[in-house]
Amino acid sequence: MTLRKIELLPLVISITLIFIIGTGMDWLMASSGREFFPVVSLDIKDGIDHSYAGKYAQHDEFWSLVNDISIIRKQALQTVQDRTGLVITNRERFVLKFKDFSMESGFGASSMPVRTQIGDAILVTISSEQLMLGVMDIDASLVHEFIHGAMRQQMGFRNYQALPKWIREGIAVWGAGQLQERTRNVIAAAYLEERDPVSVVHQLDNMHNSSDDYLVDAILFEYIEQAHGVEVVRSLIARVVAGDNYLEAIEDATGLNWNELQRVLYKYAHGYFEEIISMSGLGEIQRAQKLYDWGKASQAIELLEELIATKEDPLLKPNAWYLVGRWSQELERFGLAAMAFTNVLDDYPDYIGLQDDSRFRLASCYVSMGEYEKALVELERFFKVHIQAPAELQVDAWFLFGRVQYALTNYLVAAQALRFAAQNRCNFVQDSFYYLCLAHLRSGEIFQSKLAMAELAFRYPYSKHLPKLKSQLDKKLLTAKQNHPL
Ligand SMILES: [Zn+2]
Repeated sequence: MTLRKIELLPLVISITLIFIIGTGMDWLMASSGREFFPVVSLDIKDGIDHSYAGKYAQHDEFWSLVNDISIIRKQALQTVQDRTGLVITNRERFVLKFKDFSMESGFGASSMPVRTQIGDAILVTISSEQLMLGVMDIDASLVHEFIHGAMRQQMGFRNYQALPKWIREGIAVWGAGQLQERTRNVIAAAYLEERDPVSVVHQLDNMHNSSDDYLVDAILFEYIEQAHGVEVVRSLIARVVAGDNYLEAIEDATGLNWNELQRVLYKYAHGYFEEIISMSGLGEIQRAQKLYDWGKASQAIELLEELIATKEDPLLKPNAWYLVGRWSQELERFGLAAMAFTNVLDDYPDYIGLQDDSRFRLASCYVSMGEYEKALVELERFFKVHIQAPAELQVDAWFLFGRVQYALTNYLVAAQALRFAAQNRCNFVQDSFYYLCLAHLRSGEIFQSKLAMAELAFRYPYSKHLPKLKSQLDKKLLTAKQNHPL
């Protein structure tokens, strides 16, 4: 099997999705700093707009999910009150709306203040697509947006916008319990950029330039909670909402002046990051990759298996399984590889970036083990489920499909698939020609077989397959002459 350079791609996609979902709302929040609110006409029942007429409007499943969201919405409002101490009046004015965003536009959800027939409301728009896919952490996202909404409601729009962004976002991220997830994202991003995760800890003073601005802001509130208790954070929020000077309120809450607080926070953030790094097993993944680069794939696999068994944080476990699969496949330990890819597929369906390649590789392992029927089941699933897979991978899957059909003696189907793969820059183009020649030969189409061989010879004059094919063809021609003597 040729190796493609996509080792990091699945993780890139997974992390990108997490970022999009986590930050999409805030982009719009941040850009909605206008003085007068847009007037919108909605069909609000129980805090949810029912005027959605998009592409899922006819699906029962969609409306049943909307129903679940109605419960999540109520719980989120309660969580805001319990966690932050903010008393929410006018709960019906926290309205959810659904819209068809394209996945590329990058919005998981967004929120803005609007004017409706029931008065000023905070309107949270949720992507119908992501609701259907189930890839959003809706609970935390709603709590986050509702905290913005509740503070804005109590302070008035102008006063709330006058607060520095880091206070507004710090409270929302802390209150929604998103600190740990965002820390993991920043650490995972460092991993993708092939930086040592520990370097992230050392660069904490530059974190405001990092991919997640709100992270350090939330750490302040997390620190206050851990050091002084959640009541102290609630009193601090109450003072900010009442219009007190926020710097004085923070100094009173912590008993530290601003300079002392900076030093304490820096130290606290270090400890916090180191703990999350250790829980995620990122250090182990990097060590395993070094071992693999040094040609010690077996030891690398052992290290990953230990990570999977001992680390609490599931963030990198699917990636660890995926690497176990790839490296075992290279070592021709196909049984272990198949198990690893099956785990990725069955246990981590949310890691979309890992799914299509794992499915393809699982089918490859079955082919290597001679289990063609099982391979066929996976390939059929591949074509049905992974329609978004990269074109290159799809063409490779057609090769594998042809290879399996050949083994199952369905030569005509095999020939079609293999020709498609051979003509579309498949990574297995010579193998595609090889099995194409054989498929034609087995179905008695000697002329087609000769043509395919000529094409292979023209494009790859030194292909290792040519001598084998030539002798097969000669044999067939000889038998044909004996059966039909001139
Ligand atoms: Zn926000």
